[in-house]
Amino acid sequence: MKRISIANPVFNGNEKKYLDECIDTGWVSANGRFINEFEKKFAEFCGTKYAISCSNGTVTLHLLMLALGIRPGDEVIMPDLTYIATANAVRYCGGKPVFIDSRKDTFNMDPAKIEEKINVHTKAIMPVHLYGLPCDMDPILEIAARHGLPVIEDAAEAHGAEYKGRKVGSFGLAGSFSFFGNKIITSGEGGMIVTDDEVFYQRMKLLKGQAVSPEKKYWHIDVGYNYRMTNMQAAVGLGQLENVEWHIGQRKRVADLYKKFLGDYTDYVLMQAEPEDCKHVYWMNNVILQDKVTKNRDQVMQQMEECNIEMRPLFYPMHIMPPYYDTNVECPVAEKLAARGISLPSHALLTEENVRYICECLIRIITGE
Ligand SMILES: *Cc1c(COP(=O)(O)O)cnc(C)c1O
Repeated sequence: MKRISIANPVFNGNEKKYLDECIDTGWVSANGRFINEFEKKFAEFCGTKYAISCSNGTVTLHLLMLALGIRPGDEVIMPDLTYIATANAVRYCGGKPVFIDSRKDTFNMDPAKIEEKINVHTKAIMPVHLYGLPCDMDPILEIAARHGLPVIEDAAEAHGAEYKGRKVGSFGLAGSFSFFGNKIITSGEGGMIVTDDEVFYQRMKLLKGQAVSPEKKYWHIDVGYNYRMTNMQAAVGLGQLENVEWHIGQRKRVADLYKKFLGDYTDYVLMQAEPEDCKHVYWMNNVILQDKVTKNRDQVMQQMEECNIEMRPLFYPMHIMPPYYDTNVECPVAEKLAARGISLPSHALLTEENVRYICECLIRIITGE
């Protein structure tokens, strides 16, 4: 049997045609019509005024921290359970990421634990819509407003996800997306920032392009960066964005199959909860092994590998890894989720037969039948 991979990009729109146009016309670098169109259409998709493309979803976060003016000694609040780019962006500026525990049902940052971490050094709150599920934004926005703090959404995994009918990325001062090959839609590598704030937008645009003066060529008014996306990336990204509803629809189809096949086994595995006011886009379908499972997570993953199924562990909590190792951080929920969590194959090409097979293998392994 062919190995079932965890992720698989699908290019079934204009991606190739647009890419050919880049090569045929010579517009392969950071100028060209696809960049402008991708930015314009992505802003429309998110319901924001502005969008800025970048070379990947890590530098989008760095650019956001630079534009916020994060400096050594500053603190930024974020979940302990996330991808490391969220924390690194703060560290690149010399700032300190402050980690918040997860809610055990949604895996997302627990709003009830934010306020106790706010102090004079706190400069921003950075929620992450983990695995495609929006955070509970109302309490986060309320706390941020009360303390006069900007909210920056890391929506790298959640293109098109909605909270109370509104798209993620549009709630705070700005939102950040990634187009890495395994994300909801891809441009190979790539990232995008969306915002409604014109001043903030202009600052990021300046820093992204070596801080070159808008009036005078080769005159640089600050220390800038080259964080530009290429027209070739944008060509692929635009082709994907034109079909984004199809991509999201396929992920929902796959998630519904997992729920159907695993729904009777909640004593053994729990999946990410879905609050009614959220539209989940299922970047990854995850299971958390429950007490009834006698094998540990790594044993289960090893046996799934033997069935030719690719899996990943859930993200590790930031505070247990070398760059952010800190025994004073108390995030027991994140630790427990991470120790027992597995991400299952999640992509648009999975058939009902694939998902049935994955679930049958998983059930056999965890129930010991
Ligand atoms: C993927 C991802 C990023 C950015 O990743 P890149 O690979 O640099 O595009 C940032 N934050 C989270 C939570 C992610 O999952």
